[in-house]
Amino acid sequence: MTDDSSQLPSAGDADDTYLGHLFANNRRWSKRMTDRDPEYFSRLVAQQKPRYMWIGCADSRVPANDIVDLAPGELFVHRNVANVVVHTDMNCLSTLEYAIDVLKVEHIMVVGHYGCGGVLQTLRGGMDGLADNWLRHVQDVLFRHTKYFVGLDESTAHDLLCELNVIEQARNVCRTTFVREAWKRGQKLVVHGWCYGIRDGIAHDMEFTIDGQPADLLALRDAAVARRAALTRERKTPV
Ligand SMILES: [Zn+2]
Repeated sequence: MTDDSSQLPSAGDADDTYLGHLFANNRRWSKRMTDRDPEYFSRLVAQQKPRYMWIGCADSRVPANDIVDLAPGELFVHRNVANVVVHTDMNCLSTLEYAIDVLKVEHIMVVGHYGCGGVLQTLRGGMDGLADNWLRHVQDVLFRHTKYFVGLDESTAHDLLCELNVIEQARNVCRTTFVREAWKRGQKLVVHGWCYGIRDGIAHDMEFTIDGQPADLLALRDAAVARRAALTRERKTPV
């Protein structure tokens, strides 16, 4: 460390019970930020005005702000297991309502990731726990598009289900009353579907980008799903 952290608790002194090492990390981070920019925190206190909302998986390998290189205050985030958007989930809906009606974000990205454990468990039939009920929403995606999974090995099917789940959850965002109302009153709001690669840190656009109430959302969903399925087949086919 180059900064003066002699007054701060170190990882070696930390009592793991009270997470002293994390408080030490926190103090160093706070000092580093204010050393670089003395007004950094006072600006954050003054206002929260993010242009983007991220709906992603809870997976610890998918840190929203880091992936798109945005600072605190620039990204409004909601995360859950397998980045699912359910019409009765008050947590997700409340976050969406606040993002759209109060913060007036302009872009909502549903971001899944390859290698998602929740999606894999769905493919394998579940874990015999509470999460299985939550993952039924991902299983619905699998059942809805089952024809595209015929003949795929598990790894390829896993990648494809991660992608199709993103498209379906982004579609669910488009169907919420908050998004529909925003579009109806002419508010700028674009919904996106992305899938992030843990192996290389690269995010991919699932080509499901909706910037207003479409005449036929289902047709756009079908087209996006068919595109991902076709790309999967191409990747599988030996050249
Ligand atoms: Zn995940």
